[in-house]
Amino acid sequence: MSAPKITIIGSINMDLVTQSPRFPKVGETLIGSGFHRFMGGKGANQAVAAARLGAEVTMIGAVGDDSFGRELCANLKREGVNTDNIHTASGQATGMANITVAENDNHIIIVPGANFSITPADIEAQAPAIAAADIILCQLEIPMECVITAAKLAKKHRKPFILNPAPAQPLPAELLPNITLLTPNAYELAISLGLPEDTPAETLMQQSPCPVLMTRGAEGALYHDEQRHVQHQPSFKVTPADTTGAGDTFNGALAVFWQQGMAEAVKQACAAAALSVTKLGAQGGMPTAAELARFLQ
Ligand code: ATP
Repeated sequence: MSAPKITIIGSINMDLVTQSPRFPKVGETLIGSGFHRFMGGKGANQAVAAARLGAEVTMIGAVGDDSFGRELCANLKREGVNTDNIHTASGQATGMANITVAENDNHIIIVPGANFSITPADIEAQAPAIAAADIILCQLEIPMECVITAAKLAKKHRKPFILNPAPAQPLPAELLPNITLLTPNAYELAISLGLPEDTPAETLMQQSPCPVLMTRGAEGALYHDEQRHVQHQPSFKVTPADTTGAGDTFNGALAVFWQQGMAEAVKQACAAAALSVTKLGAQGGMPTAAELARFLQ
């Protein structure tokens, strides 16, 4: 089978991670115990996951005219992602996530910066990259109007549109009919549909107006098959080192194996995500096609 062409429309962020013995009180200054930078943003992470698995990936998004933006684009290029359609937004800072890790928990502040400078007109201008793809993958770290425009363009060009609805927010009614598959976790699906957060997973699946593939962490995934019956794919047993980016690896892999049918694509996505949690960092553990094939032998 030839390499699938995947167009990903989404965020590109630098993650700045500070480790601290505890969280500071309001107004307090603390001495931290460590600092790391990671290339991130859900769009960019999913692009890297798909490219490592051998897909032809085109990324649509924006960075600022600054050193983080240049580093992030260089990283995507190194990973084999086509960065020609990434816009450099002058006067905007590259998106960043400020993460403090302490007390076995974290605080996160995301500043979208250039990611939120993208407009529906910018997405319209990218219609050729959507028309040329086999599949379109999108998340919610760019303006909602851009996601709506992308979904409409995908439908117009008869391309499957996968939406990973993260971070969680209610989905507008005009978006829902243009989604081929929604890939939330249980919390994200509840918020997406405007249902209580404690709604059981199976009920959420039944209530969804569009097909769902729900990630369930160490329990694997629940998904609607082609007949709209709910199926369960168990997770693959591994020793987790860092689950950051498991969802992004899952979505990138899902797009890569989409053409092989739902059951096979979900199995491959669970296997790729399981491998990703065995190593540190969101992009650090994303497997190559050879590593994934070896794992599934
Ligand atoms: P993220 O925090 O990355 O956004 P998410 O909530 O979107 O995560 P999860 O449900 O945590 O996604 O994980 C995605 C997939 O990764 C799961 O469906 C599962 O296949 C795999 N996975 C996650 N954690 C584990 C684990 N401990 N062991 C094996 N597989 C795992």
